[in-house]
Amino acid sequence: MGLFKSESIGVEIQGRELKCLVCGHDAFWKREAQLNTATATFFHFDWANRSGVCYVCAKCGYIHWFLPP
Ligand SMILES: [Zn+2]
Repeated sequence: MGLFKSESIGVEIQGRELKCLVCGHDAFWKREAQLNTATATFFHFDWANRSGVCYVCAKCGYIHWFLPP
């Protein structure tokens, strides 16, 4: 699709190694995600109109999405 870099990375969250919630894999593609205004408006989330980070499992494709506090 060309959306992701071909190189997967290990990820650490809060000092713990991230493992895929679905398949337990430990390599991910990282994507920055700008939550768009349409989505924010739809869900009435004022706080959602900002960027987050996605770690996409390199094995099964499950998206682990984090919003920085
Ligand atoms: Zn997975």
